Amino acid sequence: MAITILINAVIIDCTGADPRPNGWVVLENNRIREVGFGVRGVLPEKAMVIDCKGQTLLPGLIEGHMHVASVDASIVNQQRCFQPSYITIKSLQVLKDTIDQGFTTARDCGGIDAGYRRAVAEGLVPGARLFVSGSVISQTGGHGDHRLPTELHPPIEHAAGVCSIIADGVDEVRRAAREQIRRGVDFVKIMAGGGAASPADELDTSQFSLEEMQAAVFEAESAGKYVSAHCYSDRGIKLCCKAGVRTIEHCNLMTESSAQAMKEAGAYMVPTMATYYMTAKLAPELGLDPNFVRKMKQALDGAETSLAIACAKGLKIGSGSDCLGPMQVYKGMELALQARVMGPMAALVATTRTNAEIIKQENHLGTIEAGKLADFILVKGDPLKDMSLFQNFEDNITLIIQDGQLYKKLI
Ligand SMILES: [Zn+2]
Repeated sequence: MAITILINAVIIDCTGADPRPNGWVVLENNRIREVGFGVRGVLPEKAMVIDCKGQTLLPGLIEGHMHVASVDASIVNQQRCFQPSYITIKSLQVLKDTIDQGFTTARDCGGIDAGYRRAVAEGLVPGARLFVSGSVISQTGGHGDHRLPTELHPPIEHAAGVCSIIADGVDEVRRAAREQIRRGVDFVKIMAGGGAASPADELDTSQFSLEEMQAAVFEAESAGKYVSAHCYSDRGIKLCCKAGVRTIEHCNLMTESSAQAMKEAGAYMVPTMATYYMTAKLAPELGLDPNFVRKMKQALDGAETSLAIACAKGLKIGSGSDCLGPMQVYKGMELALQARVMGPMAALVATTRTNAEIIKQENHLGTIEAGKLADFILVKGDPLKDMSLFQNFEDNITLIIQDGQLYKKLI
């Protein structure tokens, strides 16, 4: 039995409680055995003691919306330009970058298959613990259809990268959902409206009929899983709510009435602000497609307003970065961007406790409480005063523990 004790930490447990100084945490193997403050009992002889030196201890962050297989800013062109092996090998770097940024767990919202989850779980590669959706399901001409309006055939069909299944009609959507479930995904991802990266649609559209979405939800729920939908528009969000979609991603064009529909349905909103912010910032440098950049800016314009509407409505709000390719190293920015609207503590809770609920791991992850898995990060400084500290993760994250294993220790 391995015992590790973290002492002298300011603990933000991410239950929503205020930070408390002089905290200590006892880990037994890969679980938290006890959390306390002030005077401790006698330490077991063989315990490993880590002095946190007054720094801030948080649960391991959870990336609620990412694409491990997005290795280029254009998820469409990468399929044209890169071999499957090259995409796979670059994806391993993204996985490592994710844990290096303090995210010990991640939800992949389209692209990688369950083999990546297994490889991380078996310790073959360093990376965030994964929950995956496999290939996304899209209608013809939808957000997962990577063809230009001028192209008749998909640019390239191979198993690596951010792949889609094109499905039209209830039967095809049902089959596509069953196929992903057969391959061992944790949830099913559908495209319920236009997106920035797809060449043939607009953000303010809705995609899939109510019946098609209901077929996906029925199949997912029959297997004990859930559906996540990519969606920006009011009409799309309302259809998702009617169909029983559990998590709605982005939501940048949400208004009062679609927020009300989400409230009544109990759906989770997963804002993804960092990707719009970074794309707008780096577009000239990266030479991105003007149509893609135009739509990312449209999404950026709506991001703060929709999050403010969601907060006022009391929606359940998670957090994801959705950063693409070279921008995958800016995940920490999501916390600062969400904090501007929600406040710092709410942004931290979204990235930990609420994201743990989203991936149905609330009994194991997301807070520092006895019985949960031992995932922690230690940060220099007070995130409640400076949420930008996560962006300089190399220096400011001084300790990373994942599943009871020491991954990084600078202290
Ligand atoms: Zn995405």
